[in-house]
Amino acid sequence: MPAIPSNKPYRVGRSRTGLGLFATKPIKKGAKIIRYFGPLLDSKKKKDDAIENKYLFELNGRWTIDGSVRKNIARYINHACKPNAESDVSPRKRKVVIRAIKKIEPGEEINYDYGTDYFKAYLKPIGCKCAACEKKRKKKRAEARAERLRLKAKEKKKEERKAQKKALKKAEKLAARKLAAKKKAAKANGKLLNGKALNGTQLNGKHLSGKQLKVLGRPKAASKRSAAAKPKAFMNPSMNAVTSATAVGSDQQAAA
Ligand SMILES: [Zn+2]
Repeated sequence: MPAIPSNKPYRVGRSRTGLGLFATKPIKKGAKIIRYFGPLLDSKKKKDDAIENKYLFELNGRWTIDGSVRKNIARYINHACKPNAESDVSPRKRKVVIRAIKKIEPGEEINYDYGTDYFKAYLKPIGCKCAACEKKRKKKRAEARAERLRLKAKEKKKEERKAQKKALKKAEKLAARKLAAKKKAAKANGKLLNGKALNGTQLNGKHLSGKQLKVLGRPKAASKRSAAAKPKAFMNPSMNAVTSATAVGSDQQAAA
């Protein structure tokens, strides 16, 4: 690294893209920082025109400064899309000076905009690494990450809703099945109940009379239904209507 006089407000140092020029003292806005210099190349001369490197600074259609020489410390200044310095070009004097366009604090890297031609040729293909572009990229990455997370959360919610729906459906099915079973049981019980209602009222009452039996009972039909539901109760021939009703009643309790 070339020795830099300490009275200068800058030093060469590590930057994110390799080496860069950093302020060592506060630099006022508008102040000249350093001259960009090197041999002048004449585009009219074939030998000069054949020279190709990253440090060529075109002054105009004819003259170009070849800044690749070691003494040209300004060649360490990196490009930035939002720079704190600019290249002040005097084509007539064939002179370029790097000048601060804002106040630069010690430790800050000094940058200037290399221009669209350089950007397109050298930076765009590899992606500009300047602070502004890095910030933009970071923001884009953060946005992409946020979007991914949002989609993931959405997907998760969807899955959860789906699972919930499935569980609900399952529960409903189960409830329906239970209900159906209950209904079936109730239907079966109902038959017994009918039997009990008829028989119970008829037979548990104290005031049994032939008339009541006839009116409430329609005993033939009732006992027929009872018999269908609970044939065992009638299997014992010694069982009369009273015992059959009692049996039905206890059965019912067991069912409940
Ligand atoms: Zn940039």
